Amino acid sequence: MFERHKEETGIILPGTDQPVTITTEIRTDPLTGRTARITRRRTNEPPINFDDPPYRIHVDETASACPFCPGRIMEATPRFVPDIVPGGRFGSGESILFPNLSPYGRHSAVSTFSPDHFIEIGEFTEIHYRDNFVNTRHYIDRIMTLDPAVRYATVTQNYLPSSGGTLIHPHLQINLFVTPTNYLRELAAFSKSFLTKTGRSFWGELIAREEALGERFIAHTDGIVWLCPFAPQGQKEVWAVFEGRSDFRELSDDDLSMLARGILSVQRYWRDGGDNGFNLGIYSIVGHKESYRILVRMLVRTRFVPYARNDQSYFEVILGEAATDEFPEKIAADLKKYFE
Ligand SMILES: [Zn+2]
Repeated sequence: MFERHKEETGIILPGTDQPVTITTEIRTDPLTGRTARITRRRTNEPPINFDDPPYRIHVDETASACPFCPGRIMEATPRFVPDIVPGGRFGSGESILFPNLSPYGRHSAVSTFSPDHFIEIGEFTEIHYRDNFVNTRHYIDRIMTLDPAVRYATVTQNYLPSSGGTLIHPHLQINLFVTPTNYLRELAAFSKSFLTKTGRSFWGELIAREEALGERFIAHTDGIVWLCPFAPQGQKEVWAVFEGRSDFRELSDDDLSMLARGILSVQRYWRDGGDNGFNLGIYSIVGHKESYRILVRMLVRTRFVPYARNDQSYFEVILGEAATDEFPEKIAADLKKYFE
């Protein structure tokens, strides 16, 4: 299940005379067959100074025209047609959910966490995520009742512009797909073919092996397994896998609270490492109950500071292969204490 090999190169580092060996590890993702590399660190960027964040001015400047802030949100954001929801928007706690002004397909929405224009990483609360996820589940449930052609749903987050986010004001994106994206198509197809070939669920097998090995396993919290992926696609990537559930609509309020707590643990770990930008994704698939489990992926993106170097280089964007610089086994070992 876990295939890897190493390639070595000898170079003479500046200011020295003797060649040193530098190792690249190439790992194959056990589900998709996609390779990923763990490479020598490319830069030595300073951690974020959260006591005096250099992006504070950007946060303040964007607040006065933010369409998601109180006093503007009801006028500045689109509404659903009344057949979907009377009043045009979904609400749960402080979370407000409305159509995405730039949809990616038939059903695209956005949902805010709270009236707060900015929430620092590490300062989100369980209530923020739980309320937003509950709101999201209502929307997914409503759309899937109205449109049976939808088979896939994703809940995602760009946190800060360095992760691709267009607005500072924290929010999630919800997409319900009739035509799945490449990754969703791969998740469904590879999970199904693993079941067909072996008679077992890939996800059940992965959890069992990771738990037995312990190297990348982080924690087991009521019905959710937390681990680092063997062949990461992003920096400091962490996965959560829901046991026995493949469709987001199956998740209870308690499940969503548990997910929220784990996400906050991961965010505190990232913050302690001086990171702030991140992406989050939850993948829900209908009709693959035997072969698929809800997967949640979380990974760190470029730090949101002036003159930052983007974490996606030619290697990822042009060559289509992730290169990260920390071993998943080290990340898992460091993360365990955040789940205690
Ligand atoms: Zn705002």
